[in-house]
Amino acid sequence: MRILIASSEAVPFAKTGGLADVATGLAKALAAEGHDVCLVIPCHRKFISEDQRGEVIGELNMDMRNFDLRTYICRTTLENSNVEVLLIDQQSFFDRKGLYGSGNSDYPDNAERFILFSRAVIEVAKTVSRPHVIHANDWQTGILPAMVHHERTQGRLAGTGSVLTIHNMAFHGQFPAWQMELTGLPWEYFNWQQLEYYGHLNLLKGGIAVADIVTTVSPTYAREICRPEYGYGLDPLLLKRGDSLVGILNGVDTEVWNPVTDKHLTHHFCADTFETGKPLCKASLQEELGLDVRRDALLFGMVSRLTDQKGLDLISAKADEILRADVQLAFLGTGDPHYENALRDLQARYPGRVSATIGFDEGLAHRIEAGSDAYLMPSRFEPCGLNQQYSLIYGAMPLVHSVGGLEDSVIDASEENIESGIATGIKFTSYHPDAFLEAVWRMVGLYVHRRNVWNQIARTGMSQDLSWNHSAQRYVEVYCRAIDAARS
Ligand code: ADP
Repeated sequence: MRILIASSEAVPFAKTGGLADVATGLAKALAAEGHDVCLVIPCHRKFISEDQRGEVIGELNMDMRNFDLRTYICRTTLENSNVEVLLIDQQSFFDRKGLYGSGNSDYPDNAERFILFSRAVIEVAKTVSRPHVIHANDWQTGILPAMVHHERTQGRLAGTGSVLTIHNMAFHGQFPAWQMELTGLPWEYFNWQQLEYYGHLNLLKGGIAVADIVTTVSPTYAREICRPEYGYGLDPLLLKRGDSLVGILNGVDTEVWNPVTDKHLTHHFCADTFETGKPLCKASLQEELGLDVRRDALLFGMVSRLTDQKGLDLISAKADEILRADVQLAFLGTGDPHYENALRDLQARYPGRVSATIGFDEGLAHRIEAGSDAYLMPSRFEPCGLNQQYSLIYGAMPLVHSVGGLEDSVIDASEENIESGIATGIKFTSYHPDAFLEAVWRMVGLYVHRRNVWNQIARTGMSQDLSWNHSAQRYVEVYCRAIDAARS
């Protein structure tokens, strides 16, 4: 099958979050199955070196409100795979310090930037890659299914299926109605059942309404977003999609996230050597972060965007109480200045016990997973979540709020689950500081008093197959359904 995946970010080129890992991991897994995969991303020049861009293979002249939008297509391949990567190089839009904005504010021309990108994807599909299916991701490429639909009505891209994956319902890509002009689509698409949302242009809504199949990144999140608490106003539309809305849990790129081979680590370990390897990684991490090098202190790690979504309000509310126990906390993240300052403050008040690295550091993210005993992910909502899966693989027992992909990927250490050998972490159900704290005490209790059980739980997590193998197969099924729908 010829598959075009369009994403606004992808490792190793540019990354702000899980989407970048997923775009590349899925593309590689599909290519390994023998499919012909083309990954199309914007050429974020501040992050992508000239070497990484590969060769220029074409030029597009996009007519968007009289701007000079000369746009180049560069071609390269993903390392160790047959995935072709096409980079849409439009300097005035993508030569920026951020991917979507600076600090806490979005770039004011994000509609122009990502509609141009989506239009370029359609040109690439028509002229270069001729895919059977076009896979859009999140609001940035949410307009693609409507564009594919329009092309089909014009006799172009005939039979090409469209799939939209929602990685986070919280971001819609909503813009003033007049920006509809940028899309090149007829105004008929601007109606309440397609691209219009209360008088605005809503790119994610358009994708949900028009895509042949809509997917999201875990089965539980697929059910949650059909309810008002998680649907951000689009729950009725999602409900209407019925069985055309499919939840597929993200896999992990085990070439990148693997404690046996991880290039960011000085010591390596597997499930069998966990008890000797983890302490070595822990000591190196404590040293690197200026924490007291103490084997017995329970070290919690967290690598995250620092936003309300990620449960930082719970952590802020209970950190002082948690630190009454013999624990250490290692944070890595950027985001809301309020949370950045709260973590810096904790570090200042607990020298040697709390470390707060404010920034983006891929290598340190890996070392935190390898060196931590446990991992905090008390997200308010979590479409899939990758870090709890990385934690399972690295033997850092995850503590999670049981929502979305966290619910689907962690099995609580209840006595029953411990007994039957399936437990992999600790879960709490009510999003409340006290419920969170109780989960922390359960974890501390296990670590301090039942270390054999702790080690068994960690080894169970490490032994799971969390790779893309299974999920990539599910995507192939979805692509087949989308192609059938496009042909009917
Ligand atoms: P989300 O996509 O909501 O941000 P995920 O858990 O799905 O959350 O994915 C987050 C990805 O981004 C993980 O690979 C994580 O390691 C990475 N990440 C987040 N913040 C940082 C950071 N400050 N430094 C390095 N990696 C980070």
